Amino acid sequence: MAGNFPDTMRAIKKLDDAPGLNWCDAVPLPAIGPRQVLVAVTHAGICGTDRHIYEWDAWSRGRVQVGITTGHEFVGRVAAVGPAVANVQVGQRVSAEGHIGCGHCQPCRTGNGHICERVDILGIDIDGCFAQYVAVPEENVWPVHPDIPDHVAAVFDPLGNAMHTVMAAGVSGRSVLITGVGVIGLMAVTIARAAGAGRILVTDVNPARLDLARQLGADQTFLSHDEQWPGKARQATGNQGPEVLLEMSGHPAAIRQGFAALRNGGTAALLGLPSDRVSFDLANDIIFKGATVLGINGRLMFETWYQVESFLLSGRLNLEPIITHHIGLDEFQRGFQLMQAGQAIKVILEVPHQEPLPCQTPALTSAAAS
Ligand SMILES: [Zn+2]
Ligand SMILES: [Zn+2]
Repeated sequence: MAGNFPDTMRAIKKLDDAPGLNWCDAVPLPAIGPRQVLVAVTHAGICGTDRHIYEWDAWSRGRVQVGITTGHEFVGRVAAVGPAVANVQVGQRVSAEGHIGCGHCQPCRTGNGHICERVDILGIDIDGCFAQYVAVPEENVWPVHPDIPDHVAAVFDPLGNAMHTVMAAGVSGRSVLITGVGVIGLMAVTIARAAGAGRILVTDVNPARLDLARQLGADQTFLSHDEQWPGKARQATGNQGPEVLLEMSGHPAAIRQGFAALRNGGTAALLGLPSDRVSFDLANDIIFKGATVLGINGRLMFETWYQVESFLLSGRLNLEPIITHHIGLDEFQRGFQLMQAGQAIKVILEVPHQEPLPCQTPALTSAAAS
């Protein structure tokens, strides 16, 4: 591997079968295969998934390999490429799709690699991006448009979750109910507004989040513990109910109430993950209602990424109130604590490098292209 690299790097790892994450000062750089790319990470987003791993809940204990480097949302500079890499160059500013499909199964071969049965996810199944360097396959790399700032490029992954949910449901000209406005729910509000949604209704347990949802374009908000809210949501949409439900909470009561509010013939897109099985009135809330139900997982590769870029470049998304904190990689404990305390929405970790990062010279690129 050519280039000016340190021998070791700093990384945040899951070293113990117990809550918490470990700061490691000197771990080996990831090795790259012939078709892989080594990225010097400059900014990484802390996700709810990382918080599950930090808290070491039942899901993480059953899924995450002890010893792994965590993190899957990032932007950085390409530092090295394997000998068979054809289209990615050292110095390019890139993010990457964190779902690494097998490339051979039926979903992978029909453009559905996000639901590959043998998918490896960065920071869950393989070493992730809470480190100075991360290795990813060339086909997962997403070159970042120069007009998109680093802290926004670092959150393409959750923004893509929100985009995939909104676009799958189809919100243009339709009334929309969003149940749960954590990071992705709030992103869905600004995307739905930009995508030409009709009336946008939002529920959450947290009044401050509802205020923020209104700032981002929601027309009407309801506190989740107001049991009358599904009736009020129906009243607010011509006594018929919202045409689209975007379920972002994973909370059983919100799921049931969301479906109760949904209009006959409406579409529900479900992204929020319940922590256990949910009992549900299938007959009344889906069958007799004639509802269309969509399970949403990850992002379409790479249709969703093009949509995210296009919406960002249109200037119509408002993400600044959602990205609340920028802290150093070594301050990650404080980042998780801010999230647990409900003081932070999206926290960006800034990753320091001693060596100057490779930087592509634009003149060289245009000469090569002409
Ligand atoms: Zn994430
Ligand atoms: Zn596959």
